[in-house]
Parts: sequence; structure tokens; C-alpha cells
Amino acid sequence: MYLAGVNRPVDTGDTYFAEVSHLDVSGRTEARHRINQRPLIRRMPVSGIKVEARIEHTRWIVDCENCNGAEFYFEDGLFLCTQCGNSDTVGKTKLVRLPKIRRSIEDILAKRKIINRHWYPGETLKKLHEGGL
Ligand SMILES: [Zn+2]
Repeated sequence: MYLAGVNRPVDTGDTYFAEVSHLDVSGRTEARHRINQRPLIRRMPVSGIKVEARIEHTRWIVDCENCNGAEFYFEDGLFLCTQCGNSDTVGKTKLVRLPKIRRSIEDILAKRKIINRHWYPGETLKKLHEGGL
């Protein structure tokens, strides 16, 4: 089993599912599905709605404002909730914003225990430095 954050400071859907898809675990099939559906998602219509990613327990995730679910962030920057299918945009994807200070955030979090790797939009690097280990 792969635990997010073991091989890199913060995992995305791309990195996490790539790790799991190569393991002999029950989640391997779902991981491969998640990876294989990204090209399809990139061809879907895009809505004008933008959402922000955050880090929770060493994973870049995106909260679904429509159904209160949450999904891994993928590097293509598109959000499509697997729970509600973005019914609020009639299935159109949403654009995900990551902070410009992403690498600095990840560098700081890399020094923390996995269980303490969190970041919320608007949280400054100074405040992140002051956070726990
Ligand atoms: Zn949803």
C-alpha cells in the first residue's frame, strides 16, 4: 500500500494514482481508471468557474462546492467531481487555481511529519513556517 507523502512532500492525483496503479492492491483498478479518464476530462467543456486547491494530509485536493465532496487535484488543472459530476455546471469542468508559492509551500511541508502537512488558500509562508512539525 502506498501512503500519500511517502515519495514526495505532497501528492497530486497524478502522482498518487500512478503509485497505486503499480501495486498489487485492490485499489489498483480504480487508480488506473482515474489516470485513464484524464484525457477524456481534458476534452470536456470547461465552465467559467474557478476553484482553489488546498493541502490536506499531504494531498493536493479540491473541495466540491456543489456536493461538499473532495477530490485529488490533477496537474491538468481541471476539476470534475466523481460524486456529483459537477451537476451545478451541467457536467462542465472547473478550473483549479494553485498558489504561485506552491513549491515553497511543499518545501516547508516536506520538513513536517506526513500527518501535519496541511495548507489552506491564503495561508502565508510565514504562518506556515510557524506551524507545527
Ligand atoms: Zn461534487
